[in-house]
Amino acid sequence: MKMLYEGKSKIVYEGEEPNTCIIKYKDTATAGNGVKKEDLPEKGKLNAAISNIIFEYLMKNGVKTHLIKVLDETSVLVKKADIVMVEVIVRNVAAGSFSKKYGVPEGTALKNTVVEFSLKSDELGDPMINDSQITALGVATQEELDLLKSMSLRVDELMTELFAKAGIRLIDFKLEFGRVDGGEIVLCDEISPDSCRLWDAKTNEKMDKDRFRRDMGGVMEGYKDVLARLTK
Ligand code: UDP
Repeated sequence: MKMLYEGKSKIVYEGEEPNTCIIKYKDTATAGNGVKKEDLPEKGKLNAAISNIIFEYLMKNGVKTHLIKVLDETSVLVKKADIVMVEVIVRNVAAGSFSKKYGVPEGTALKNTVVEFSLKSDELGDPMINDSQITALGVATQEELDLLKSMSLRVDELMTELFAKAGIRLIDFKLEFGRVDGGEIVLCDEISPDSCRLWDAKTNEKMDKDRFRRDMGGVMEGYKDVLARLTK
């Protein structure tokens, strides 16, 4: 298979059929823009399984995604997409960089759901960026941004419900989108404890990558618990 790109946590290969790619999840965990890096055995398998459950659930509920089919424990076949170079962050509860930047304790309720964009650039450290800055740079059109926002809010509603049934609070998460077949916007990348903050609904215990970022231990136990609850 021809490798197209190796990222921090996944490798992308060219698919056999035209306009397809194969994404393979790795066990590598990184944080702080790659400064902190470690191999966590089974992470690839766990994230692939969790992400596949979420993508299949979203698709069943009408969300368009890049997923074509699951190939094996760590690989998926996807539509080749031209990735929109912004990350969409959705927040239901204050945490992480939002808490730090605005001086609100983690866990503070928000009066409305927050949607933020950051420019996808490891070199620049993914800086936060607004609509007029994105359109000025030609990274996406306003119509595309409006669609990213409405799709992200729909994904939030659906995921909040899915996780609530599993006894998990969805605090915040990051999404990526791409353009396929002449410009249609679809959800891409992964949705996993690497890209979401997930807290136990009863105890508020963290079950996501913050355990790795903050050296709390029990990182894979948290991910395993998320998968177990989603498949229960
Ligand atoms: N996130 C991500 N990739 C990034 C930045 C953020 O997946 O490059 C996720 C992160 O896991 C969290 C949410 O987006 O669920 C909000 O992250 P935040 O802006 O608070 O940044 P952090 O505190 O992780 O630096």
